[in-house]
Amino acid sequence: MKKAEIIAVGTELLLGQIANTNAQFLAKHLSTLGYHHHFQTVVGDNAERLKHVLDVAITRSDLIILTGGLGPTKDDLTKEVVSEFLNETLIIHEPSLQFIEQYFLKVNRPMTENNKKQALVINNAHVLMNHNGMAPGMVYEGENKQFVLLPGPPKEMIPMVENELIPYFLKGKETNTIVSKELKFFGIGESILETKIIDLLENQSNPTIAPLASEGEVMLRVTASAEDEVAANKLIEQAEHQIRERVGQFIYGSNGDNLFIVLSKKLKKHNLSISAAESLTGGLFSKRMTDIPGNSSIFKGSIVCYSNEVKQNLLNVPKELLEKEGAVSIECAKSLVENIQSISRSDVSISFTGEAGPIASEDVPVGKVYIGIKIADSPAIVKEFQFSGSREQIRLSSVKNGASLLVK
Ligand code: ATP
Ligand code: MG
Repeated sequence: MKKAEIIAVGTELLLGQIANTNAQFLAKHLSTLGYHHHFQTVVGDNAERLKHVLDVAITRSDLIILTGGLGPTKDDLTKEVVSEFLNETLIIHEPSLQFIEQYFLKVNRPMTENNKKQALVINNAHVLMNHNGMAPGMVYEGENKQFVLLPGPPKEMIPMVENELIPYFLKGKETNTIVSKELKFFGIGESILETKIIDLLENQSNPTIAPLASEGEVMLRVTASAEDEVAANKLIEQAEHQIRERVGQFIYGSNGDNLFIVLSKKLKKHNLSISAAESLTGGLFSKRMTDIPGNSSIFKGSIVCYSNEVKQNLLNVPKELLEKEGAVSIECAKSLVENIQSISRSDVSISFTGEAGPIASEDVPVGKVYIGIKIADSPAIVKEFQFSGSREQIRLSSVKNGASLLVK
């Protein structure tokens, strides 16, 4: 698989005045295009340092994408530096020049010499038209190396990538339909997932498989290009089959799914209602369940039992149990899940009790969490977890693991 890197040019990026959102946007697209992406650089508007960055990039990447510095001012020097680096001259691109001239006619302003500079492109480059600004983009195909130059303003760069650059890249492949499918995982970390499918990741070209991690979950985005949707879906299906053979037990859904949506669908399918008793999660499970429209048919509600009084008085947890075992205990989680089920008369119930931190309580370490689940008349089951991370992460891990216990 080919390697790509991104070079964002602009002193304002280095000074922290603006965030490098262009790199973020481009990074997302690189996996779709089938590139490994190992490096990103930010460099100021300085010819010597940009040249140095190019010297390094050329040794390790097949595709080098630069953004920024295509404008008319003195500090915009990307084209000049790259053309010199490639031993090519800059030539006027007539359609861009006409576009710029017409723009100035329309706004009735005189066109200056440096505006003309914006119509200069690298000799032998494929020109990407800029329909939202002045400076055209470029793709230069060197020997085994490709250089892409894109304008800095996101409102110019994004449509240029979507409407000009991606179609240009895909043209040579004689394909015209791109289809992506996201496979959602829970209960497996990104690095373990990668090791289990490393050969698939390394030998991929079409479809491409890109791992992404966020909020304690991992996702694989499988993207295929083919002559039509049916053929692209077929390629995805084949890759998905291989992935499922290895790590299928961790896949809980696809595309727009999240654990709570999948849980809700499952409950609806079996016509089961659910309720919750939430101590450390403070209603987060309830929030996630009620984020989904139409869940009033299955979600009865939850009691936020943050204090022992509420656990005791509203959820009937025996006082002796709380005194003897403490609120963060198997026994308390069990009592909570049994009692919320009978109080709300739901088919399924779940309880959360634990220590979210940041400071450990007397005998409970931060991240210790008990989750109780009870399904119909079956005995309650309590699972013990030791989570890590911030208070927010511990609470999120709690509700996600709770949902995942019920999704299985
Ligand atoms: P212009 O013709 O506007 O000068 P340019 O191609 O020369 O465009 P720059 O001068 O480098 O681009 O940047 C212009 C503006 O685009 C910046 O002030 C900033 O708002 C935005 N920009 C540039 N680079 C990035 C980036 N990497 N991420 C997000 N925004 C950026
Ligand atoms: Mg500029």
